[in-house]
Amino acid sequence: MTRFVFVTGGVVSSLGKGIAAASLGALLQARGYKVRLRKLDPYLNVDPGTMSPYQHGEVYVTDDGAETDLDLGHYERFTGVHATKADNWTTGRIYSDVIAAERRGHYLGGTVQVIPHITDKIKEVIQAETEGYDFVIVEVGGTVGDIESLPFLEAIRQLANELGPTRSLFVHLTLVPYIPSAGELKTKPTQHSVKELLGVGIQPQILLCRCDRPIPENERRKIALFCNVRPESVIPAYDASSIYAVPISYHEEGLDREVLRHFGLSIYGEPEMGRWQRIVDRIRAPEGEVTIAVVGKYTNLLDAYKSLAEALTHGGIAHNVKVRLDWVDSQIFEDDEAAVARLEKVNGILVPGGFGERGTEGKIEAVRFARERRVPFFGICFGMQMAVIEAARNQAGLKGASSTEFGPCAEPVVGLLTEWTRGNLVERRAADGDLGGTMRLGAFPARLAEESLVREVYDGAAEIHERHRHRYEVNVNYKDRLEEVGLRFSGMSPDGALPEIVERPDHPWFIGVQFHPELKSKPFDPHPLFRGFIGAAVRQARLV
Ligand code: GLN
Repeated sequence: MTRFVFVTGGVVSSLGKGIAAASLGALLQARGYKVRLRKLDPYLNVDPGTMSPYQHGEVYVTDDGAETDLDLGHYERFTGVHATKADNWTTGRIYSDVIAAERRGHYLGGTVQVIPHITDKIKEVIQAETEGYDFVIVEVGGTVGDIESLPFLEAIRQLANELGPTRSLFVHLTLVPYIPSAGELKTKPTQHSVKELLGVGIQPQILLCRCDRPIPENERRKIALFCNVRPESVIPAYDASSIYAVPISYHEEGLDREVLRHFGLSIYGEPEMGRWQRIVDRIRAPEGEVTIAVVGKYTNLLDAYKSLAEALTHGGIAHNVKVRLDWVDSQIFEDDEAAVARLEKVNGILVPGGFGERGTEGKIEAVRFARERRVPFFGICFGMQMAVIEAARNQAGLKGASSTEFGPCAEPVVGLLTEWTRGNLVERRAADGDLGGTMRLGAFPARLAEESLVREVYDGAAEIHERHRHRYEVNVNYKDRLEEVGLRFSGMSPDGALPEIVERPDHPWFIGVQFHPELKSKPFDPHPLFRGFIGAAVRQARLV
C-alpha cells in the first residue's frame, strides 16, 4: 500500500522544506520502507532549465534528462533513490499538458477549468508511477498563503480526502522565531500559518517547527492546542551544524515515530541510523583541512552550485578532512593580473559549469595557473571546455581557439553539435530552436581509456554513465593536435565522436569532464572523481 505524505511550508520561504522532506525520506528508509520523493513547484516556467541561477539556484538534472528543482538533489543525496521526469512538476508543466490536451480535443467540448481539470492533472501526476513504494513524500513548493500554490493545495486536499487518513498525511513546516527583546519564542506565526492551511481545507497532523533553541514544553502545548495537533506531533526542527545531521535530529525529536503512529504502523524498534552517524562523526571531527578554489561566475550565490558544494564535502568525508571552499569570481583575474596570487594558497582549483562569455578569460587563466604550478585541477563541463581552450591557445599555438558559444571564431575547439545518439536513437536540435530542454541532457555513457588516471579514479571501470547538461561539445577534430601537447582525451562517447574526459599525464591530478559528476555524489557514497580530487588536494597539502 502506497501512503502519501504531503509536506507544505509556512510563515517564510527558505525554511529548508527540501531538506526536511529528504530527511523524512531517509528516516523512513532507515526503518526499512521503500520511499520516493517528488516536488510540485508553483511557478509558470515549464521547468527551471531556462531560469537564471540567480533566480532559482542550481538546475538539477536527472538520469532521464529532466531539468528539475535543486531539492531533487537533496532527495537523491539523502535517499540514494534516483529521481526521474515524473518527480518534479511545475504549474507551467501542468498547464502546458492540459492546454495541449485541450487543443487535441481531449475534453470533448467541455469548459476546461482549474477545478477539476488542473487539479485532476495534479492528482494524476502525484500518483503516477508510485506502485511498489511504501511512502511517496510530496513537497509543495512555495509558502502557504501564496496565490500561486492554491491549485496544488486544493489538489492535495482532494487527494487526501479520497485516500483517507490511513494513506495520507500532512506535515507542515513552520517557523518559531525567538524575539530577543521579549526573550521569548513566538508561536503566533505558526498559528497563523496553520490557519491559512485550514482556510483551504487542510488540517496538518504534524508540525515541524524550525527554531534556533529548545521549545519549552508549555509553548509546545500551546502550539498543539491552537493548531489542533497532538503535542507529540509538534516536532522541533533545530538549526543543525550540517544538513546531514538533520535526519538524526528529527529522529531524536520523534518525527519518524509520529509518522508511523499516524499510519498505524509499528513504532517499535529503532531505525538503522549508523550510516548517518558515521557521516556526522566525520564532519564533526575532521583530521585536517584542504582549501579548494572554485573559480566560477555565480560565486556570490551558493545555491547555484549546491550539488557541487555537497560533492566536495563528500570528497572530504572520504578522506576525513574538512573542505574549505574559496569562491572566486573569475573576473578578478581579468581585472587584475596580480589577483592570481590568491590561487597560491589553495590545494586544488575547480572550474565548474557555466554559461556565457563573461569571466571566461579569467577561468582560462585559472586553468593555466593549475597546469603550470601543478595544482590539482578539476574542470566540470564549462570548466573542461576552458581547459581545452587553454591547451589549444597556450600550448598548441592556436591563438584563435575559443567556443562558438561566444560567437564565430577562427579555431572552434568547442562548438555546437546538433545531432547525437542515445542508444539506438538519434536526437536532433536546431541552432535557432527553442532554448528550453534542448541541451544534451541526462545520462550518457563514456568509455575510459586504459591506463588513464580517470580509469584508476573510477576503480578500473571501462564504461561509466554520467549526467550531462550542455549545448556545446569539445570538437573531436582537434584531438590529435591537443594530445600532442599533453592533453589526453581519456574518456570518449562509445562512438568516439564526443570527448567526455581530458586529463594530463604529466600533472599530479588534472581532469576535465564534460558531464556533471556532482549530481550523483552521495554523503555515504562520495563520487569517485570528488574522492580522487580531494585525495590529490590532501597530497598537495602534504597532509599525508
Ligand atoms: N555553456 C556550456 C555549454 O552549453 C557549458 C554548460 C555547462 O557548464 N553546464 O556547453
